[in-house]
Amino acid sequence: MDKLRFQSFGSGSSGNCYYIGNSDYGFLIDAGIGIRTVKKYLKNIGLNFENILGVFITHDHLDHIRAIGSLERKLNLPVFSTQKILRAIDENYYREKHANSPTRNIIEKNETICIRDFSFTAFHVSHDATDNVGYTIEYQKKKFTFATDLGCIGTEASSHLKEADYLVLEANYDEQMLKNGSYPEHLKRRISSSTGHLSNDQTGLFLSENFNNKIKNIFLCHLSKENNSRELALNTVCNYLENKNISVGVDVKLDALERLVPSNLYEF
Ligand SMILES: [Zn+2]
Ligand SMILES: [Zn+2]
Repeated sequence: MDKLRFQSFGSGSSGNCYYIGNSDYGFLIDAGIGIRTVKKYLKNIGLNFENILGVFITHDHLDHIRAIGSLERKLNLPVFSTQKILRAIDENYYREKHANSPTRNIIEKNETICIRDFSFTAFHVSHDATDNVGYTIEYQKKKFTFATDLGCIGTEASSHLKEADYLVLEANYDEQMLKNGSYPEHLKRRISSSTGHLSNDQTGLFLSENFNNKIKNIFLCHLSKENNSRELALNTVCNYLENKNISVGVDVKLDALERLVPSNLYEF
């Protein structure tokens, strides 16, 4: 059977969008990047929008939904998310209501839906949009889990993250950089709160304490431009893992997704 394919098209506050699928068809996770750009990136991997069977939305912050209007209205792509998230997109983003549009697909947290050879399960994450989910995607018994934009890892998210073979997990900020940086106090508080974003340390600690032999690749996502760097995120998480005698590059592959450019195309 066809391999599982993953590519990040962009990750962070400037726009989030990921491709997950195989060489024939697939899905987008989040729609925070303009459709012309996404079209170009899809073309680079031999696909176009006709090969996209659905767009799964994690939450209703603009960096995750900016292009949803074009994807739904111009391209008629099916959009999947919780009722609260879809309603919030309508209320805050569209002038007219789209709730009854045939492109809309309401999903419930912890219920699995199947599309062709893929299955999707949304799970709750702690963040400050109207509603917030991560996704576990299963294909050929491989579990690929996305958790972006979360201030802490609650029990529900934790059980999904621990089951993953491949994991996209937020490492938003370096704690010292945020503390000493130029952001106003209220923003610093928001980011570091339990409904804000995960720091490199929080992510490193979780991964090192919950490591198992199942996990093969970890992709750090949604890195802050102001309060983080790829080197810092990778080094911090790497140190946590190596302190538990987990050898990065041998026991698990670790990468940090770029904010503005596509990652490599990964095949598993
Ligand atoms: Zn975001
Ligand atoms: Zn967010």
